[in-house]
Amino acid sequence: MRKITKIYADCALYLNFARFLSIMIYHQQESLRSQLDSLTQKKRSIGFVPTMGALHKGHLSLVEKALEENGVVVVSIFVNPTQFDNASDLKKYPRTLEADAKLLQTLKGTILIYAPDVEDLYGNQVVSKSYNFGGLEHAMEGKYRSGHFDGVGTVLNLLFRVIRPTRAYFGEKDFQQLQIVRRLVEIEKLPVSIVGCSILRESHGLAMSSRNQRLTKLQFEKADLIYHTLKKVQKLFPKKSIAQLQQIAEEAFRESPHLELEYFEIANIQNLKTAQRKRKGNEYRAFVAAYAGEIRLIDNMELPKI
Ligand code: AMP
Repeated sequence: MRKITKIYADCALYLNFARFLSIMIYHQQESLRSQLDSLTQKKRSIGFVPTMGALHKGHLSLVEKALEENGVVVVSIFVNPTQFDNASDLKKYPRTLEADAKLLQTLKGTILIYAPDVEDLYGNQVVSKSYNFGGLEHAMEGKYRSGHFDGVGTVLNLLFRVIRPTRAYFGEKDFQQLQIVRRLVEIEKLPVSIVGCSILRESHGLAMSSRNQRLTKLQFEKADLIYHTLKKVQKLFPKKSIAQLQQIAEEAFRESPHLELEYFEIANIQNLKTAQRKRKGNEYRAFVAAYAGEIRLIDNMELPKI
């Protein structure tokens, strides 16, 4: 266990000490668990926000919601190896624990950071469980990132069992993940409520993401195409067929030298199956994955009810 105060030992005297004590970094599950046990003796509920770090305002919006609804909030910061199918992407994923702690420090409330190493969470068996999420895992991200959702399910199952949260908060930015987590807690019979949170965006529309740090200035500016294409599809959705919308979206990306489209899909929000045509009573969302150079960006947007 390492107190955030240690990071700032030199300046601690000059700062509000009580405020510093409200946030701690735990590297080991035993110490986190014993602190949680003592805090929850007073029947405080536990809110949990799982992250891979390199925190931004999108993450903070989840933590703020968790603080509003719970007595204590755990933010995990862990770059999970089993959900990466690309070794270079895993290696290059930004790791900024001190800056993350500083950012969380700006929020009011009791926050514990759990930043384990791989062994603390996985022991010496760094492997994924194999899940059947009823087909949700084969759609979109599942097609392009082999084993990704087994890795996500495995790490969340481990984290849920350490933290035992009352509620856990996930962004709609990773909408497929959110639906899979809802299925995961049924499969694993975990007593936790899953709360979905809306997407926070940069001022030009790009969804906030830890990966945005790796974009060049030009790539960052041009990546707003993802948002504008989704907006256009949202607007045209009542008037155009799925095939026409698919064409419009693909065309927009073909015209951009800065982004390479991996997929654009309109899918049913319940089963995430690609929609062939609109059916009354179903709800749909549009999903995009695109590369800016070697940086993979994803986004999605709800579509009007028909
Ligand atoms: P990550 O660190 O990328 O694994 O994200 C941790 C959580 O933050 C996930 O539930 C994400 O969906 C959520 N998240 C990431 N970016 C955003 C955003 N721009 N708006 C809202 N939630 C987000």
